[in-house]
Amino acid sequence: MNTNVNKEPGARSQEPAGRVEDTLGRPLHDLRISVTDRCNFRCTYCMPKEIFGREYQFLDRREILSFEEISRLTRVFVDQGVEKVRLTGGEPTLRRGLPKLVAMLSEIESVKDLTLTTNGSRLAELARELKEAGLDRVTVSLDSLDDAVFRAMNDVDFPVSRVLAGIDEAARVGLTPVKVNMVVKRGVNEHTVVDFARHFKGSGHIARFIEYMDVGNSNGWRLDDVVTAAQIVEMIDLEMPLEPLEPQYRGEVAGRYRYRDGSGEIGVIASVSQPFCGDCTRARISADGRLYTCLFGVIGHDLRKLLRSGKTDEEIAAFLERVWSRRTDRYSELRASETPGLPRKPEMSYIGG
Ligand code: SAM
Ligand code: SF4
Ligand code: SF4
Repeated sequence: MNTNVNKEPGARSQEPAGRVEDTLGRPLHDLRISVTDRCNFRCTYCMPKEIFGREYQFLDRREILSFEEISRLTRVFVDQGVEKVRLTGGEPTLRRGLPKLVAMLSEIESVKDLTLTTNGSRLAELARELKEAGLDRVTVSLDSLDDAVFRAMNDVDFPVSRVLAGIDEAARVGLTPVKVNMVVKRGVNEHTVVDFARHFKGSGHIARFIEYMDVGNSNGWRLDDVVTAAQIVEMIDLEMPLEPLEPQYRGEVAGRYRYRDGSGEIGVIASVSQPFCGDCTRARISADGRLYTCLFGVIGHDLRKLLRSGKTDEEIAAFLERVWSRRTDRYSELRASETPGLPRKPEMSYIGG
């Protein structure tokens, strides 16, 4: 199934085929599907305990899209040009029967790259089943290799070793290359950036560093907390010299750098300091079936209502085409001019990162 003729390592194809374009000429090429809004971590920048505590009302099971609904929607999106599908959450591995969903999606011929973003907590037990179901690759979030720092950031005392075991198992069963994402927050884990890079250098896994973003309303974001991609590259380059790589395709979010000694590459995702809205080809579906055309979208479009009110695939496709062709989103580019008092944005754990 995986022909690998593309330039991105591990992906199944290369150029966006996009049939529908938005007002800025951006095709619809990637789809991120949140399969649950629940998570077993309480990362302080994503689902802080003060807000996502015992009282927090997560979605009810009936509110969440079924596998059949997700699969049907994916087919409609694929017909509009989507080639890359990523499952996310919340923590997607908490969704019961996830390999079954992967199997259903991997049967959709035009899906060229089927991936999963996970905190890695259940990967050691699930990797093989996911691979056998047709998953191509995984991206694992791991905010530090320093156990105390990581335990404090996930805020449920989860140890680094179990995530590393998940990464090992994912690589062993061929969910490769494994990308390992670290969100860098000033004063919290920035001092562990270089060790993180060193650990994965030469391992075949790709370490990626993400600027801390102002997603949702609950993480108390301040610009001062952002360590920029340029600062991250500088820190690593001082100890392990790097050189930039050309982007592989339109819409690639990570800036890529290679170690000059040939021992692999890293990625940096500069969503705050160098926004990439101009090339943003992504749609997102929340666990309850709302379509967001921007991570920072305020208003989702209710696809679940369409699915559950007997609309045909053609009617849903026409709706999607209408929404995408009118899309104007470029939040990150406009961030600088954002003022307090704007409408509230959805949380990252709900919309899917
Ligand atoms: N639970 C899974 C995980 O952690 O990989 C998937 C969902 S999580 C919302 C997806 C990604 O979003 C993670 O890599 C996480 O670190 C990232 N993320 C969450 N909040 C963020 C923020 N405020 N800024 C930057 N990245 C963030
Ligand atoms: Fe959960 Fe992922 Fe958010 Fe952490 S980043 S709280 S693991 S959804
Ligand atoms: Fe895409 Fe919105 Fe992020 Fe810009 S801010 S890159 S439009 S998701």
